[in-house]
Amino acid sequence: MDTDYDQKMHQRYGAPLLTIHKADLQLALINRAKELGVEFRLGDWLKDVNSDVPEVITISGERFPCDLVVGADGLWSRCRECFLGTQDKPNATGDLYRIMLRLKDIPDQDLRDLVAKPGLNFWLGPDCRVIAYSIRSGELYNSVLLRPDDLPAEVAKREGSTEEMKALFANWDPTCVPPAAFIHIHPIRLILTFNSACSDSWALSLR
Ligand SMILES: Cc1cc2nc3c(=O)[nH]c(=O)nc-3n(C[C@H](O)[C@H](O)[C@H](O)COP(=O)(O)OP(=O)(O)OC[C@H]3O[C@@H](n4cnc5c(N)ncnc54)[C@H](O)[C@@H]3O)c2cc1C
Repeated sequence: MDTDYDQKMHQRYGAPLLTIHKADLQLALINRAKELGVEFRLGDWLKDVNSDVPEVITISGERFPCDLVVGADGLWSRCRECFLGTQDKPNATGDLYRIMLRLKDIPDQDLRDLVAKPGLNFWLGPDCRVIAYSIRSGELYNSVLLRPDDLPAEVAKREGSTEEMKALFANWDPTCVPPAAFIHIHPIRLILTFNSACSDSWALSLR
C-alpha cells in the first residue's frame, strides 16, 4: 500500500494534491471572475468562431467581436471543431460507474471513517480500477469504478445496474464497492472518453 502518494505528487509536480467537489471549484472560479469584472451570459451556445473578424457567434445569432477566444467547452468541443475545421469526436476508452455517498446517510462505522478522513484511494485490478475520495471536509465521498466499455455507441450516459456492478467487482476488496446497504443509491454509468486531436497542431491564434 502506498501511503505517501500526496508527498510523491508534491515532489513531482511542486503542488499539493487536493480533492475538491467540482461544483465548489466552479463556484469559486465564478465568484473570483465576477470580482474581476467578468460578465457571464448563460443559456446560449457557441455555434461558430469567425477568425477573420474575429468574433464568436452563438446559436441565438448573437455576435461577440473579441481579441481572444478561450475554448473551454469540454470533450465535445464545438470551439475545437471550428479551429480544426472538421468534426472531432472523442474516442471511447471505457465506462464508469459513479456513486456519491453522504456521511449523514452512513450508519456503518468503518465506512464512516473512510468517508470522514480526507484522502484519495486507488484500487487497480484486471480490466478495472476504482478511484474514491472524500470531499467537502469528509461530508461527501465520491466513488468512480472504471470498467471496460460495452455501452452501445450512441449511449453516453444511463442509469447503472447495481447487480452488474456488484458482479464485476465481486472478488475485489469489499471497501471498493460500498456495502449493499448503500447500493439503493443507483450508480450512474457513463462513457469515458479521450480526445486525440489535442496536439500542438491546433494551437492557432486569431488575427
Ligand atoms: C462522471 C465523471 C466523473 C469524473 N470524475 C473525475 C474525478 O474524480 N476527478 C477528475 O479530475 N476528473 C473527473 N472527471 C473529469 C472532469 O470532469 C473533466 O476532466 C473536466 O470537467 C473537464 O473540464 P472542462 O472545463 O475541459 O470541460 P467541462 O467540465 O465538460 O465543461 C465544458 C463546459 O462547456 C459547456 N459547453 C459545451 N459546448 C458548448 C457550446 N457549444 N457553447 C457553450 N458552452 C458549451 C458545457 O455545458 C460545460 O459547461 C469526471 C468526469 C465525469 C463525466
